[in-house]
Amino acid sequence: MSDLTRPCGTCGFAVETPVARLSAATLGVFSDARFPGRCVLVLDHHAEHFESLAPDVASRFMADAQRAARLIRSVTGAPRINYVMLCNQVPHLHLHLFPRGGPGDSNPRVSPWELAELETPMAADELEALREQLDAALAEHP
Ligand SMILES: [Zn+2]
Repeated sequence: MSDLTRPCGTCGFAVETPVARLSAATLGVFSDARFPGRCVLVLDHHAEHFESLAPDVASRFMADAQRAARLIRSVTGAPRINYVMLCNQVPHLHLHLFPRGGPGDSNPRVSPWELAELETPMAADELEALREQLDAALAEHP
């Protein structure tokens, strides 16, 4: 098991398809065939409330979100990113990033949760290709 996939010692949450560790969080690809390039940014230590983070950690987490969004847009060509931080089902602080408005986006004006299409996993080779593309983009834009 790589260090990036190690589950949280408090809640057991783990990044399933990690790309890289950023400043305060680990970026992973989220397998969702509706949104190729969907990612999740997972805080590197257990915390449940964004508002409770130390200011420097919150700043680094948001800077990681900006960096992740730039990477996703560069790889997917998506004109927009949707940012979603719920933590209703998994208490560990994490942020979903959805590439939106690309040619495969069936309804770019609604939130991802309002789409009629159900979430289905991506093919494993497509998921790995995206992980590699994001990793390469990260190396190009450190
Ligand atoms: Zn946790």
